[in-house]
Amino acid sequence: MTVIPKRGNGDGGEFQSPALERLVKSLSRLPGLGRKSATRLALHLVGREDSAGPAEELVAAVTEARLRVTNCTSCGAITEADPCRICTSERRDVTQICIVASPVDILPFEKAGFFRGRYFVLGGLLSPLDGVRAEDLPFGRLTARLDQDGVTEVIIALDSSVEGETTSLYLQRLFEGRGLTLTRLATGIPVGGSLAYIDEVTLQRAFQYRRSF
Ligand SMILES: [Zn+2]
Repeated sequence: MTVIPKRGNGDGGEFQSPALERLVKSLSRLPGLGRKSATRLALHLVGREDSAGPAEELVAAVTEARLRVTNCTSCGAITEADPCRICTSERRDVTQICIVASPVDILPFEKAGFFRGRYFVLGGLLSPLDGVRAEDLPFGRLTARLDQDGVTEVIIALDSSVEGETTSLYLQRLFEGRGLTLTRLATGIPVGGSLAYIDEVTLQRAFQYRRSF
């Protein structure tokens, strides 16, 4: 389904500009972009009209972000200051930690604003099939953090995928005997969701974690 054939009439199906080809190839290596979308973007960026502005702004933004963006060494959040704003805030409860898989997972919590504890980013999930084992994830740093901050409550907020379940179970065993209040996010029927259109896994989970009135 590519607009520009790789091999068509013998001319290679490439632009007669190695510079533009290089740009298309770099863009098509980005996640979610095929050659077709990469070509459209490249043409937009180098096109004649008013594209000098967006192109230069893009280059400047990427350069600055590459320079400034880092991960908080304490929680793993994406930040420019290390430790991050959440870890250094006096108003956050150090005894509560919410464990998430990726730094992006912190955003919905912060947007909603109800959680007043701190976070710990695992940076991945256990997945024996993909070769992600316990030694690949920062469990040592996590337990050290629990001891250091005197954490009393841990909330596990991982995906309800097989990998998320495996990791949640591992964490449950890891924390055994620590006297922690250990909870995980409830899963169930979304607010406003219709029972008739719910998938089986969600329905089973909602049934399994049903509660009394
Ligand atoms: Zn932090």
